Amino acid sequence: MRKKLVAGNWKMHGSLAENKVLLEALVLELGQASTAGCIVCAPFPYLAQVQSVLSGSTLAWGAQNVSNHAKGAYTGEVSASMLLDFGCSYVIIGHSERRALYGEDDASVAAKFAAAQAAGLIPILCVGETLEEREAGVTEAVIGRQLDAVLAVSGIEGIGRAVVAYEPVWAIGTGKTASPQQAQAMHAFIRAKLAVLDKDVAASLVIQYGGSVKAANAAELFAQPDIDGGLIGGASLVADEFIAICRAAQG
Ligand code: PEP
Repeated sequence: MRKKLVAGNWKMHGSLAENKVLLEALVLELGQASTAGCIVCAPFPYLAQVQSVLSGSTLAWGAQNVSNHAKGAYTGEVSASMLLDFGCSYVIIGHSERRALYGEDDASVAAKFAAAQAAGLIPILCVGETLEEREAGVTEAVIGRQLDAVLAVSGIEGIGRAVVAYEPVWAIGTGKTASPQQAQAMHAFIRAKLAVLDKDVAASLVIQYGGSVKAANAAELFAQPDIDGGLIGGASLVADEFIAICRAAQG
C-alpha cells in the first residue's frame, strides 16, 4: 500500500519570524504523526532554520530547485550536496513556474532530476499541462513527453525512486482545482503509462496532485484511488490549512 505524502511548496515566501511561527505549529500538530509523510519545501536561505526547527520531528524538508551540476563556476546556483548539508531529503524538480518563467525545458528538468538522485535526494517531479494544451486535447501527450524526458535519462528505475506531482498549470495558484475525477484520470494515465515499463514501480509510485488544494477539498481529492497526497502552494503558508490538509492525507 502506498503511503500518502503531502509537500508544502512555500515558493518565494517567508521571513525568519513568519517561518518560526509556522514551523513550530507544524511540529506541534504534525510532528508525531507517522501515517502520512509531511514535507516542507522552503527557499534556500531558510533551510538552516527549517532544519533546526524540524529536526527530531517526523516532518521532512526539501528545496524547490537544484542545479544539474555537482559544483563549479555556476554563480547563483545551489547543488544537491549543499541541500543535503542542510538535511534536505526532497527537492521539487520541474515546477511549472520554473518551466514557464526560467526556461527550464524537458532536458534540463531531466538533468536536474538525475543530479538530485545521484546525490541522494528524492526528486518531486512536477508534470502538468497548460489550459491551452488541455483545450487543444493534448494533455496526455504533454504529460507523456515530460515523463519520457526523465525516463530517457534516469529510466523507470529512477522514476521508482522519486515522487511525481501532477500539477495542471491552470490550477496552480488560480483557485481553480481540477475536479477529483479530472485529477484521478490523469493520475491513472501516468500510472498506466509507467506500468508498461514496470508494473511494480507503477503500483508503488507516489503520485501527488497539486493545484489549489485547500483544507476544504483535500479529503475528496486524496480519496481518489490514484491520488497519493498533494503538492501544496498557497495553503502551505497557513498553518491551520496545511495541518488540515496533512490530516486529510492521514485519513
Ligand atoms: C504549487 O505551487 O505547486 C501549487 C500547487 O500551488 P497552489 O497550491 O497555490 O495552487
